[in-house]
Amino acid sequence: MLRCILVGLLAVLVLPFTANAQEKKKKQPNIIFIMSDDHANAAIGAYGSWLKPVVKTPNLDKLAKKGMRFTSSMVTNSICTPSRAAILTSQYSHKNGVYTLNDALPKSTTHIGHLLRLAGYQTALIGKWHLMIDPTGFDYWNVLPGQGVYINPKLRPIGAGPKELKEYKDGYSEDVITDLSIDWLKKRDKDKPFYLMCHFKAPHRPWDPAPRFKDLYKGVKIPEPETLYDDFKGRSKQVANIKMRIGNDFTDRDLQTPIGMMDNKDLRAWAYQEYLKRYLSCVAAVDENVGRLLAFLEAEGLSEDTIIVYTSDQGFFLGEHGFYDKRLMYEPALLTPLIVHWPGHTKAGAVNNDIVLNLDHAPTFLDVAGAPMIPKSMQGRSLKAVLEGKTPADWRQSMYYRYWMHLDGSHNVPAHYGIRTTRYTLIHFYGKHLDMKGAKKMDLEPEWELYDNQKDPQQLRNVYADPVYAPALRELRMEMDRLRREVGDDK
Ligand code: CA
Repeated sequence: MLRCILVGLLAVLVLPFTANAQEKKKKQPNIIFIMSDDHANAAIGAYGSWLKPVVKTPNLDKLAKKGMRFTSSMVTNSICTPSRAAILTSQYSHKNGVYTLNDALPKSTTHIGHLLRLAGYQTALIGKWHLMIDPTGFDYWNVLPGQGVYINPKLRPIGAGPKELKEYKDGYSEDVITDLSIDWLKKRDKDKPFYLMCHFKAPHRPWDPAPRFKDLYKGVKIPEPETLYDDFKGRSKQVANIKMRIGNDFTDRDLQTPIGMMDNKDLRAWAYQEYLKRYLSCVAAVDENVGRLLAFLEAEGLSEDTIIVYTSDQGFFLGEHGFYDKRLMYEPALLTPLIVHWPGHTKAGAVNNDIVLNLDHAPTFLDVAGAPMIPKSMQGRSLKAVLEGKTPADWRQSMYYRYWMHLDGSHNVPAHYGIRTTRYTLIHFYGKHLDMKGAKKMDLEPEWELYDNQKDPQQLRNVYADPVYAPALRELRMEMDRLRREVGDDK
C-alpha cells in the first residue's frame, strides 16, 4: 500500500518534469550548419547564373527545392577569418576584434557554441576553423590547421597537442570532413539536441579537385560572364588597381601551368577556363558530400527534426569584372549562398529577397532553440519569422559593410566601407591603413562609388557624380551615417 502511494507520489512529482523535458526536447530542433569556403551563388544550379548549364550541384538544388533560398544574403566583411568570427559572435569586426586575416578570435569570446550548450545542446565543429586559437564552446572539435590541404589532409582533434595532427592518407578534405561529421553524429548523446558546424575547405584556392573529379570538365567549354573583360571606365582608381585579375594575378600553382608561357592576349580567356574547371570540380565534391550528410540524416530518421543551413563564409568573383577572389563590396563577393530547410516551417521552394546577414545566424539558432535570451551584444536579428514566410514589417532595408585589410600584399584591395540598400550600393574607399594587421602602410586619395543595382545589376556604371542621382545620394549618405552610428562604427 505504502509502496503504491510512494510510486503514485513520485509519478505526480516526476512526470511533469519528464513531460517538460520531453516537450523541450521535442521543441528544440537539431541544427546542422554546413559552410563551405568561398562558394559563390553563381556556382549553385538553383541560383540560375550564367554557369547553370555546367555547374553540378544536384544535392544543393534539391535542398533549395525543399527549403528556402535567399537571394540577398550578405556578409559584413568579405574575407574568411573575419566572416567566421562574425558568424560565431553575431558582431561586426569592430566589435569582435577580428578585423583582418591576421587577427585571432580573442580567447574570452562567448559565441553561439557556448550559448547553445547552455541551452541544452551538444555542439561540434568539424573542418575549417581558421581563427588562430583552439576552438572554444564545442563539446567536440576536429579541425584543419589554418587553411589545411585538399589531398591527404591532416586534422587535429580536441585534446590533441598543437603538433598531434592525424593524416588521412588517400583522403580528400571534403570526404574526410563529412566522414568525421557522420562519426560524431553516430556517437552523439541521443537524449540531447545537437548543433553541428560542418565547415568544408572547398572551393577555396588552390582548387585541387578530388581525383575522381579531375576530368569532370574535360572538353567542356565554360560559359563566360558578361563582364569578364571589364575596362573599369568611370570607376575609382583604387578598384582599377586591384590585383585579382584572372590570368595576370594568378600564380603557377593556381593553374598548374607556367603562366609566363601564355600569350597575353588570350591569357584571360584561357585562365578563366582553367580556373572555373578547377573551382567547379571542387564544388562538385562539396555537393556530393552535402548529399551524403542528408542521406545519413534520412537513414537515421533525423530529417524531420533537423534544420539544415547551407552557406559560405562569403561570395566569390568567378570572372565578373575579370576578377577572382572576394573582399570588394561588389555583388559577387558581398552576396553569399543561403539555403535553409526547416521541416514544418520553411515552405518548399520558397525564395526570399530580404536583406539578411551572416550576423543573423546566431540569433536565429538561439531563437529556434528557445534559449532564454538573445544577448544584446549580438548585432544580427533572428530569421525565425522570415523562415516561416512572415518577414516582420520593420525588417532592415539596408546593411553596413566594412573591409579593413587595406592593400594587403598580393590582392591590393583598398579598405572601404559602404551600404547596400534594396536598390543601391554606396562605397567609400577612405584610403587609410589605420595600422590594421596585414595592411600596407600607404594612404591613398579617398574615392566614392555609387551603383544603381536596379538599372545596372552588373555594377559597371559608377553614378556617384551623376547629377540625376544627387537626391538619392543625399539620402544614402544620411542612411550610411545612421547605420554607422547604429552598429557603433562611427568613431
Ligand atoms: Ca572564405
